[in-house]
Amino acid sequence: MFKQDSQRNLREELIAALIKGGIRSPRLETDIILKQAAPRYPQITQSEQEQVKAMLQRRLNHEPLDKIIGEREFYKSVFKVNQDVLTPRPDTEILVEEAIKLLEGREDVVVMDLGIGSGCILLSILKDCPDIKGIGVDISEKALKVAQENAQRLEVEKRCALKNCSWLQLEIEKESIDMIVTNPPYIASQEIETLDEEVKNYDPRVALDGGEDGYKSYKEIAQIAPNLLKRGGYILIEAGIRQAQKIGEIFEKEGLILEKTVKDLGGINRCVILKK
Ligand code: GLN
Repeated sequence: MFKQDSQRNLREELIAALIKGGIRSPRLETDIILKQAAPRYPQITQSEQEQVKAMLQRRLNHEPLDKIIGEREFYKSVFKVNQDVLTPRPDTEILVEEAIKLLEGREDVVVMDLGIGSGCILLSILKDCPDIKGIGVDISEKALKVAQENAQRLEVEKRCALKNCSWLQLEIEKESIDMIVTNPPYIASQEIETLDEEVKNYDPRVALDGGEDGYKSYKEIAQIAPNLLKRGGYILIEAGIRQAQKIGEIFEKEGLILEKTVKDLGGINRCVILKK
């Protein structure tokens, strides 16, 4: 049974609660919640109203909106997300753009994503480059389930193999990969507590924690990447703030050649590109 929320009281109530809860875009978020839980609003059923209230409560606990809604836009697609994967960030889109520029016009190429998570990087690349194959690796079985669903959503699942293992235990033919892309965990362990609640409480630790100095994953990947890459192959690495230079040095020590570092839209050196 529908009733009419003719005064639009519910909407105003939600906005006020979000303002009070310190949420930065209360009107936008209210409209997103209503669109998801009560698509015919201001017509609304009792159960829809309860659903709206439940979503509001989760948001007031600083759960990110995309994890409440279960979806997040990234690059050109909408990805399923949940508590098992890092929320895709706009900062990471630059890595996808740079990868696609390097892959343009190429066929029979294999791109590997180390720590694929939701799949936003590799699957966006596969979607834009129809002649390319992908391999996604993740230590989290739950994250791989999300990646698998997203591969189906984007209709690239036939070109994407998924492997549930640590990148240190990868069994892949030597020099068989044309490009590696990765957004590994890079926050220093003791800094995690200083992050926004949205991040520290809702993004998986395993996707954030880069060890004592934040460089643990970069050092591990630098150990394996030269072996995996074909001669002339590339690795594109997401860098945390002020990490790009040292990342370049870590990989150069293993014999790769620094091509360039690319800034994100916020002016941060975000993507480090090296070549074998
Ligand atoms: N970019 C994320 C953040 O700033 C961290 C992602 C990562 O560790 N790879 O919170």
